[in-house]
Amino acid sequence: TVSFDKTRKAFGAHEVLKGITLDVADGEFMILVGPSGCGKSTLLRMLAGLEQSTGGDIRIDGRSVIGVSPKDRDIAMVFQTYALYPHMSVADNMGFSLRLAKAPKSVADGKIRAAADMLDLTQLLDRYPRQLSGGQRQRVAMGRAIVRDPKVFLFDEPLSNLDAKLRVQMRAEIKALHQRLRTTSIYVTHDQVEAMTMADRIVVMNGGRVEQVGSPLDLYDNPANLFVAGFIGSPA
Ligand code: ATP
Ligand code: MG
Repeated sequence: TVSFDKTRKAFGAHEVLKGITLDVADGEFMILVGPSGCGKSTLLRMLAGLEQSTGGDIRIDGRSVIGVSPKDRDIAMVFQTYALYPHMSVADNMGFSLRLAKAPKSVADGKIRAAADMLDLTQLLDRYPRQLSGGQRQRVAMGRAIVRDPKVFLFDEPLSNLDAKLRVQMRAEIKALHQRLRTTSIYVTHDQVEAMTMADRIVVMNGGRVEQVGSPLDLYDNPANLFVAGFIGSPA
């Protein structure tokens, strides 16, 4: 379980997260939505340890991660811009974190092969990022996360650079992967359809606070307020 407990973040005088309290259950696919600037990426980055918190607690399985270095948090993040290393092959991109962690080569190769198999990348392992399509690059970015076998996946608008058709296909691939691995996932998107079709539960954020948490149907049928209704697109 991932627990945010009155989590706060200020950049100087600007308070971006104003006390976020939220539990994400083991194996859950949780989607974060909310207007630009409401603090979604900041919340993910704090869980990943890429931003210091300025108040409250964040726990994974009951243990506070405040002060724990990013590499010891057992979290893998997939970004909108993939952030692949251009000078490394697909296999080397996927195995980079394992090399850093000094995993034996045979173990690393096995994990890379297994992830490539899951993501349909087996034929592409020797290619370089510039030789891949957008969807293929996104799959490599996911492969890089999967090989680490993390406790939590964080996705920050992973599909927003893809065209509409590919986005629909990748949604299905990510859901299938989640059904297979059951890794706790927190996924940020601007796309209502993505949120409604992929989420176990949706968190609606606004101005650094949580407006409502619930299943897609809950939010649609019983929006807590006009903001949620407007955001989810249901009649209030
Ligand atoms: P978007 O949907 O546009 O990605 P978001 O919900 O992910 O928005 P964040 O990136 O979390 O929003 O940013 C929340 C607020 O924090 C914004 O007002 C942003 O300008 C501010 N912010 C983020 N990072 C920093 C930083 N390093 N220094 C100062 N302000 C920051
Ligand atoms: Mg963001």
